[in-house]
Amino acid sequence: MDFQQIFGQLPQNQASAPGRVNLLGEHTDYNDGFVLPTAIPQSTTVQVGFSTDGQHHFYSEDLDEKVSISENNNTPSGFASYIFGCIEVLKSAPNTIPPLNLYVKSSVPMGSGLSSSAALEVAILRALRQLLNLPVNDVEIAQLAQQAEIHYAGVQCGIMDQMASSLADTEHILFLDTRTLERRVLPFPNKAEIVVIDSGVPRTLAGSGYNQRRAECEEAARLLNVKALRDITDADAVQELPEPLRHRARHVVTENNRVLEAVQEVSSSRFGELMNASHASLRDDYEVSVPALDTLVAMLQKTPGVFGARLTGAGFGGACVALVAAGEGKAIATNILEQYNQAGYSGRILVPITNFGF
Ligand code: ADP
Ligand code: MG
Repeated sequence: MDFQQIFGQLPQNQASAPGRVNLLGEHTDYNDGFVLPTAIPQSTTVQVGFSTDGQHHFYSEDLDEKVSISENNNTPSGFASYIFGCIEVLKSAPNTIPPLNLYVKSSVPMGSGLSSSAALEVAILRALRQLLNLPVNDVEIAQLAQQAEIHYAGVQCGIMDQMASSLADTEHILFLDTRTLERRVLPFPNKAEIVVIDSGVPRTLAGSGYNQRRAECEEAARLLNVKALRDITDADAVQELPEPLRHRARHVVTENNRVLEAVQEVSSSRFGELMNASHASLRDDYEVSVPALDTLVAMLQKTPGVFGARLTGAGFGGACVALVAAGEGKAIATNILEQYNQAGYSGRILVPITNFGF
């Protein structure tokens, strides 16, 4: 079913935005810290037209679901909440938004930690910017998308996903300071490409575990008398904290330092070592890994041609990312998945590897 079949008219315009994978800097964004995401080749496309019956109509091809909603309705639930949220945050920009027909289709895996939600928001906001000639820039699009996700979809997210979707591309890594929004576009580590593999283990505890870690970080920052853990640069400064705050804070401080080191034009092998150290820190200090992710990451780390590997995203299941020798990603991933799945898991390749740059 295309736009015309669903809405009985042709779309006025369309826009797309990519998903993202974070290479380094995990659980740092809500501590005002540093992150290193890159865009993935998969993206979400949104087509829009003007609705003539006074209501908004949203259709997702991926869910095969249509939602109709009046302007003054309460926030809908499910996927429509993201779309409704994007329209609402634009309204207060200050613009009036007419009733819309909006069609969504995506190749970003949903709910796998590759940020299909930010891709959806950014694609919607780009399409509406173009359709209505709105004076918003790419950073403002990311900020509006984050507001929509927090206030309408009810997810307490940081700014990384939306900034990555709005500003990153697949040929570079985006270094982002989540406090100041200062950013730099970096080249990929030399002669390397990326593999993203889903562990096949759903992120069951991700919500509650995430909120608990956030609260622990806030408490650690309060005890250390700083605005956020980003303000601590020396890992020794956390020694006096009570457990588990000491371990949690140590992860955040060392992870920020790993990102800052990676930004200094490091080799692929050093970048890989920093990813390995990040995984160990997420596993031992932050305690957000699970046995499946540890197994998959260990298999990757001991495979020739792999520079480094770690879990990516909030943890408690989900995906891992590896930096591997250029041209070898597909063979490495296929081979490892065979071993991994023989151990009873159902892992799969999440990102088509060949599209990554060098
Ligand atoms: P992630 O961002 O890691 O993929 P989230 O849980 O943050 O996972 O976002 C997934 C949610 O975003 C989906 O449950 C759905 O509500 C919404 N969403 C994302 N992409 C689409 C799409 N193509 N069609 C409909 N809803 C989508
Ligand atoms: Mg998301």
